[in-house]
Amino acid sequence: MKNLALHWQILIGMVSGILFGVLMNNWVGGNDFMFHWITPLGTIFVKMLKLIAVPLIVASLIKGISDLKDISKFRKMGLRTVLVYVTTTVFAITIGLSLVNTIKPGKGISQETIIKLKNKYADNESINEKMATFKESKKKSNLQFIVDMVPDNAFKAMSENKLMLQVIFFTILIGISLLLIEEKLAKPLKDFFDSLNEVVLKMVDLIMLTAPYAVFALLATVIVNSEDASILLALLKYALVVVVGLLLMIIFYLSLVSIYTKRSPFWFLKQISPAQLLAFSTSSSAATLPVTMERVEEHIGVDKEVSSFVLPVGATINMDGTSLYQAVAAVFCMQVLWPEGLVFSNQLIIIVTALLASIGSAAVPGAGMVMLVIVLDAIGFPSDMLPIALALIFAVDRPLDMCRTAVNVTGDATVAMIVAKSLGKLGKPHIKNWDDSYKGDI
Ligand code: ASP
Repeated sequence: MKNLALHWQILIGMVSGILFGVLMNNWVGGNDFMFHWITPLGTIFVKMLKLIAVPLIVASLIKGISDLKDISKFRKMGLRTVLVYVTTTVFAITIGLSLVNTIKPGKGISQETIIKLKNKYADNESINEKMATFKESKKKSNLQFIVDMVPDNAFKAMSENKLMLQVIFFTILIGISLLLIEEKLAKPLKDFFDSLNEVVLKMVDLIMLTAPYAVFALLATVIVNSEDASILLALLKYALVVVVGLLLMIIFYLSLVSIYTKRSPFWFLKQISPAQLLAFSTSSSAATLPVTMERVEEHIGVDKEVSSFVLPVGATINMDGTSLYQAVAAVFCMQVLWPEGLVFSNQLIIIVTALLASIGSAAVPGAGMVMLVIVLDAIGFPSDMLPIALALIFAVDRPLDMCRTAVNVTGDATVAMIVAKSLGKLGKPHIKNWDDSYKGDI
């Protein structure tokens, strides 16, 4: 296995995990065995990735900004990043809306299926939690998301993975301030973060050595926890619309890479595939972030000045896959439960709210569904039917979450390349292996 490229190793781990999960599903003691011996391995891996996310963002963003030498360059990069992020997201929502309105997956859903799904999931713990989060968010002001970006305690922000934007905010302040003080005084702190950055990137290499085994555990767990096939089949048409939309997004990214950055789209896919496969296996762009950063910087050649800003910001605010899914899911729920809501003005509201919702979605599994409730609420979907809408699509949410997270990560990497190219910061790859500078024995 050692001589195989990393993405092949991960793929083999994933396929074996799926087969193992099917085997465990058909064995009486399978669930218990998975719970005690396999699932924890996947959990440990995701925890290790999350462990290094905050130090990596802080160290690389400080290095990135202080290397810029000039604040106006940072402003230029920030504006371009936000502009490209918003454009790709609006494009994704438009693709989702076009597909769902043409194919109309909601048409084929029988009353019997709705009742079955409602009875099975309407009181589900996870759906109740999502509804509670939505009710909490309704009490907040419209500008709350900006208020939430500003930390009042830097250490608290750094101790919570959910507060990534607060960490980014604080780190940008440090980076800019470093540019404004005398170089001699800035140097010790810069050197410290340079060194920390190298160390954390090395940690990514080390953690990735275990990735093929970890994805085995993660996918086996997904299979053991999946719903029975008859429910999945009832929602097949809806799920296919989402998947086709997501595939179109990948084609869109590959075209952008080829046309704008003049790099081969197949080469891009090969370089970024370990991050895509991990996004698929973990359903979390935040957990995948360290790997995305390593791939984009070392394997694609995007300068750290760009990647250290564009990627952490993208992981939190740019979710093209999620927003496409929200558009499809919202219209699907209307087609099944509230056909009178299917008017043009509501489709326009979906474009705006799905864009804002994808910015507000946390980069963790299942976050897109909470935001879907916000989208539905904005178009006036009857509130007593909101839990039924969630129950309707809940069964296929996990597999769709895996696919949309892979698209979210691909979108971030593409935008990093585009912004880098536009600033003349797309260079040559400089791949570092985990043991490049190590001379001793293991
Ligand atoms: N799991 C997605 C992500 O981390 C968010 C979502 O769509 O639920 O990017």
